[in-house]
Amino acid sequence: MSKKLLLKDAHIEGIRYFETYRKQGGYTAAEKALKMTPDEILEEVKASGLRGRGGAGFPTGMKWSFLAKPEGVPRHLVVNADESEPGTFKDRYLMEFLPHLLIEGMLISSYCLGSNVSYIYIRGEYSWIPDILEEAIEEAKAAGFLGKNIMGTGFDCEIYVQRGGGAYICGEETALLESLEGKRGNPRLKPPFPAVKGLWERPTVVNNVESIAAIVPIIDITGAEYTKIGVGRSTGTKLISACGNINKPGVYEIDMTITVEEFIYSDEYCGGIKDGKKLKACIPGGSSVPIVPANLLLRTVNGEPRYMNYESLADGGFATGTMMGSGGFIVLDEDQCIVEHTMTLARFYNHESCGQCTPCREGTGWMYKILKKIEKGEGKMEDIDLLWDIQRKIEGNTICPLGDAAAWPVAAAIRHFRDEFEWHIKNPELSQTQNYGLAHY
Ligand code: SF4
Repeated sequence: MSKKLLLKDAHIEGIRYFETYRKQGGYTAAEKALKMTPDEILEEVKASGLRGRGGAGFPTGMKWSFLAKPEGVPRHLVVNADESEPGTFKDRYLMEFLPHLLIEGMLISSYCLGSNVSYIYIRGEYSWIPDILEEAIEEAKAAGFLGKNIMGTGFDCEIYVQRGGGAYICGEETALLESLEGKRGNPRLKPPFPAVKGLWERPTVVNNVESIAAIVPIIDITGAEYTKIGVGRSTGTKLISACGNINKPGVYEIDMTITVEEFIYSDEYCGGIKDGKKLKACIPGGSSVPIVPANLLLRTVNGEPRYMNYESLADGGFATGTMMGSGGFIVLDEDQCIVEHTMTLARFYNHESCGQCTPCREGTGWMYKILKKIEKGEGKMEDIDLLWDIQRKIEGNTICPLGDAAAWPVAAAIRHFRDEFEWHIKNPELSQTQNYGLAHY
């Protein structure tokens, strides 16, 4: 059974409220942290090996150490709660059921970074959660854990919740900052990075909800102890939101030593494929990461079991591996049509493109139109090569990672499931009435 650090108290009734959270030992990590120096906290976070839980997996301690500290210029912590990646809903769970874990993590992180005014930028569609967070902020303030002179330390900290307008692109950190400043959420060219010029041109750290919540157990048990959970550079625990054709969709906390096979088939996690069907493929890290067929999902090309961690999932690179990403684990059974699935994703990225760069603005639209044509049985064989060519021209040629996120699913689908694209083209009548999966298994 995986060790629980973040969700250990999630089942306790009333844990959403300060009184219950405090009774379970809540805010003791904050009390401990406020007796440490900011540098000592930073060293613990670095020692923990925590990697950003939003998708990129960049070491959090290193990110914090890049924060510029010019004299007299305020600094900010901004929590990225704009969780909009299809298949990813673990931050929603944390905020809805354990809001004080996030607030406590923000207090410790704000103290470490020197942020007296910190923000939570939350996805517009999570319309019921800001009230939960604001209530938790008020409770923490009434108990002396936010506001002026927190616990007599002289440190002041306010936290504000800002609702997004429902644009996926605002999950990109610089687009988020633009939106937080009241502008259209267009990604900025980097450099300068937010650590130097972020919110209102001030040094800013932008971190994912889960990353900030993880600061609480790190301070609680120490960074060194945190590294003993997990494996290699995949330290600590990771939240996985599992969905698709499985028996038990939900949010799970894993310690990154379990195999993908165990995660899918064990009753502790996904409980196997729905209706006893065969596993066809999986996108293990949210819709932006490459899809992998069942054989490469469960084992690497060397025949080793694949594990639920950053290194093992990426084993083999984009050719045979995938990525841990945000932990949005989408399972597809044998009946699913990869062409239709890829077309749906292409439509999503086309809709969410901010339109600033030509390869993304035009390329995502072309990919969607071609995929739609193939899926309807109106495609030609050369369309597959055209699709491949377009995604190659998008990847690496855009301002922000949305371009790559749109290109990778198409590349992986063609690489691993070319036969399905060809089937749609060769069987125009059949492809209008049934999908490849149903016709072949
Ligand atoms: Fe906008 Fe797409 Fe360019 Fe990102 S890659 S800046 S979403 S057009």
